[in-house]
Amino acid sequence: MSEPSIFTRILDGEIPSEIIAETENAFAIRDIAPKAPVHLLVIPKSEQYRNVVELAAGDPDLLAELVGLANSLAAEHADGDFRLIFNTGPNAGQTVFHVHAHVLAGGLQEASLGA
Ligand code: 5GP
Repeated sequence: MSEPSIFTRILDGEIPSEIIAETENAFAIRDIAPKAPVHLLVIPKSEQYRNVVELAAGDPDLLAELVGLANSLAAEHADGDFRLIFNTGPNAGQTVFHVHAHVLAGGLQEASLGA
């Protein structure tokens, strides 16, 4: 077994980070290095899937749960509009191989793509 991911350690309370929302199978935190006025991460509680391609193939309902959580958070923390980013692979900027979506919101008209 490899080491638990940083997000599993946050969920388990080993690394401090406020869990700002939770569903049955997913949770959300604020990104430690925000790239937008609102920059949240929505994360499955299980680290079974390394990226969104694996998640979509293995558990499309869980992918839909992440999108629903992102939508509720964008309504709660911004005006409801949001950008959803899944960095997939190191050359696309993925650094944590426990699938997660970046939810960017709040005045993004001028912001470039990426998280
Ligand atoms: P990735 O680069 O894999 O798409 O996204 C990983 C994200 O996790 C990065 O945006 C990074 O800032 C965030 N991150 C890494 N470590 C921590 C942490 O300990 N706490 C929080 N809240 N975010 C983290």
